[in-house]
Amino acid sequence: MDERNGTGGHDLLIKGAGILGGQSADILIRGGLVAEIGHGLEGGPTERPGPGPVEIVEAGGLIALPGLVDLHTHLREPGREDAETVETGTRAAARGGYTAVHAMANTDPVADTAGVVEQVWRLGQESGRCDVRPVGAVTVGLQGERLAELGAMADSAAQVRVFSDDGKCVWDAVLMRRALEYVKAFDGVVAQHAQEPRLTAGAQMNEGAVSGRLGLTGWPAVAEEAIISRDCLLAAHVGSRLHICHVSTAGSVEIIRWAKSKGWDVTAEVTPHHLLLTDDLVEDSPLGSYNPIYKVNPPLRTRADVEALREALADGTIDCVATDHAPHPVEDKETEWAAAAMGMIGLETALAVVQEAMVETGLLDWAGVAERMSAAPARIGRVAGHGRPIAVGEPANITLYDPAVRAAVDPAGYASKSRNTPYEGLPLPGRVVATFLRGRPTVLDGKLT
Ligand SMILES: [Zn+2]
Repeated sequence: MDERNGTGGHDLLIKGAGILGGQSADILIRGGLVAEIGHGLEGGPTERPGPGPVEIVEAGGLIALPGLVDLHTHLREPGREDAETVETGTRAAARGGYTAVHAMANTDPVADTAGVVEQVWRLGQESGRCDVRPVGAVTVGLQGERLAELGAMADSAAQVRVFSDDGKCVWDAVLMRRALEYVKAFDGVVAQHAQEPRLTAGAQMNEGAVSGRLGLTGWPAVAEEAIISRDCLLAAHVGSRLHICHVSTAGSVEIIRWAKSKGWDVTAEVTPHHLLLTDDLVEDSPLGSYNPIYKVNPPLRTRADVEALREALADGTIDCVATDHAPHPVEDKETEWAAAAMGMIGLETALAVVQEAMVETGLLDWAGVAERMSAAPARIGRVAGHGRPIAVGEPANITLYDPAVRAAVDPAGYASKSRNTPYEGLPLPGRVVATFLRGRPTVLDGKLT
């Protein structure tokens, strides 16, 4: 993915942006690369040889971040184009400040062959707004019975490096061990959706005081923690890379902290919603009780879990933020709780939620946000050309963000095809003003170009 497609020879001068929230500087972009960083840059054709006059982007008061990278996006194509397509999902990604996303494999057909991952990769190339890295399924049809063609997907044009049955857990320990062994050959990683299926049969929400009061089948923390424990041990045993999707409990954090203390190659992600929302919203929220907008897998947990997750993201136990953007059409969400689909959209609110949960609370500065929303996910996914510092010679994947505004979330203008956001009407800080993919603006003045 390091071919520089779509640069279009755009030359730009970003004036007065605070790089990683620090001192303001001008950033000159030529041919899709950062050409110069300094003060009082003019970038005109008379100043230095170049193809012509540059477009000026005024960025006073804005923060410049490296383009965000998502390890966990459901783009739904092929199969559920009524919920999202690669085109609409990458538009939503650009509006959220993302320049690369990983497309999860639980499509229809499942992305378990070179053919399907190449189809998704090509659709991403055609959309041109955000690089799309397909995730390959671990098992054929996500059935958990035999390994998919991991090597063929790795060798395909899509160059798959992340493998996941997300939506389902690879619960068979022998299959998980084989997958971890297999991906070592091409520096891949298995991203586990940690959910012991027998412990979560029929589960509807976090198992605890609220589920007891509401009479909904509980989803115990141990169902997540048991799989994470097992898989850390397996990854250490075979000497392979393990990534843990959407960590949601304080106990999981403790296990990952222990695994990392042993020097094992384990990484983990947390979603924005698990950093902000709690299970008591199911009982009582501005949107009423039993509102399926809060139904998600893994479920929203308790305030103590949220505090532990924030602390873990701050201290590096959890490496990165991943959206788990999970679009669903209205009819699949606006139904009774038990029948509703699980999942929330998140690409267009991720940075705002992270600002609210982590920056406004003093737990992270903007350099910390850049590490956890761009550099770390690019490293884990082996995404070349993304997650790089804003520095001369680097690809100009840059997001300009205004942290000073605050407004109630209104999904009416979202680029996603779906509207299942839990934040509607909630005041959140920040606004993505511009996104540049290899120097080409995909969003300017908050609008898609
Ligand atoms: Zn999942």
